[in-house]
Amino acid sequence: MGFNKDQLETKLIHASSNVDIEQKTGAVNVPIYLSSTFHQESFDHFGPFDYSRSGNPTRQALEQTIAELEGGVRGLAFASGMAAISSAFMLLSAGDHVLVSEDVYGGTYRFITEVLTKYEIDHTFVNMTDLNETASAIQPNTKVIYMETPSNPCLNITDIEGVVKVAKANHCLTFLDNTFMTPLYQKPLELGVDIVLHSATKFLSGHSDVIAGLAVTRNAELGDELAFIQNSFGSILGAQDSYTLIQGIKTLGARLKQSSESAEKVATYLHDHPLIEEVFYPGLTFHPGHSIHARQSKGSGAVLSFRLPNKAAAKAFVEQIRLPIFAVSLGGVESILSYPATMSHAAMPKQEREKRGITDGLLRLSVGLEHVEDLIADLDQALKIPHHQMELV
Ligand SMILES: *Cc1c(COP(=O)(O)O)cnc(C)c1O
Repeated sequence: MGFNKDQLETKLIHASSNVDIEQKTGAVNVPIYLSSTFHQESFDHFGPFDYSRSGNPTRQALEQTIAELEGGVRGLAFASGMAAISSAFMLLSAGDHVLVSEDVYGGTYRFITEVLTKYEIDHTFVNMTDLNETASAIQPNTKVIYMETPSNPCLNITDIEGVVKVAKANHCLTFLDNTFMTPLYQKPLELGVDIVLHSATKFLSGHSDVIAGLAVTRNAELGDELAFIQNSFGSILGAQDSYTLIQGIKTLGARLKQSSESAEKVATYLHDHPLIEEVFYPGLTFHPGHSIHARQSKGSGAVLSFRLPNKAAAKAFVEQIRLPIFAVSLGGVESILSYPATMSHAAMPKQEREKRGITDGLLRLSVGLEHVEDLIADLDQALKIPHHQMELV
């Protein structure tokens, strides 16, 4: 094509269609190659594909797309976000140590504390918004620093370049979970990160219809190592789901822009409401990580959290709200309201949970594509909580 596909919004649409169809049929969409195995043309010359665990043309179109979007060398598609994250941790060996942001996704926390420990891979959780605390937790055997920014559910911001600097000085790799921002708003590889990870279940697919994970490596060597693990462990994304995800990615630009604009309005509305004690959204100028986030990201995203006085108020609010679905997950076209205390952070002891700001009054909202005036009107009616319903029971 005779134009410059430099803008990410343009790449979202066209990156996947470069694969093979242009030459063959002109089909605008990547074919779904439902084939586990591939005929080899000759006895001593094998073609580019042999078996779909090792490589599948539909999955490859997705993998090349995410690599191009993140500005990396190699993209890999997995059966879930957790499969991508766990496979990246399999690059480590017994005796190694990882430094992890203390408010990582619950599934990542579980894998690190309950699975990696069985293979003698040790960990330390640190408050990664504090670079000094991060640097002083490095051990001689620390091999990876693992970031998630903005974090879940309180949207804490880690200074990516600051952590990369600490890692480089100590010969550690850096991994970053970029689920909340997507490459449209945050390009960690450009800031020196080694592996970017995604739960593509969320904003990248965008329609709450697929579970998928993606990884992109900064260099070819890490790409080869992770591809070896992908093929050995075998937690690959199937061809149909790869296709669904490619279609979702095409509309990411329009979806994320619209949802983020609405999220900013909703955050401002909630901040001004007398019943709301606190709002967590990196787009608000008084958010503690606002300036760092603005420096390293192009947008504030569509996820925010807010605090009601107590559990009774949260319950009354959830029972009155009409538009958002009440569920785990985020990043869909529909607004999704979650209650972290019993959903994403149910496994965490109450004391640990509250230390991280996840009180019984905290709710998380992933803003979808409904009209923002309808969303705010809905929040407004649900926040008219009768006084007797806020009393603690
Ligand atoms: C959902 C999520 C994951 C896990 O992804 P799955 O696709 O559910 O396995 C990891 N990190 C973040 C930030 C998430 O929101």
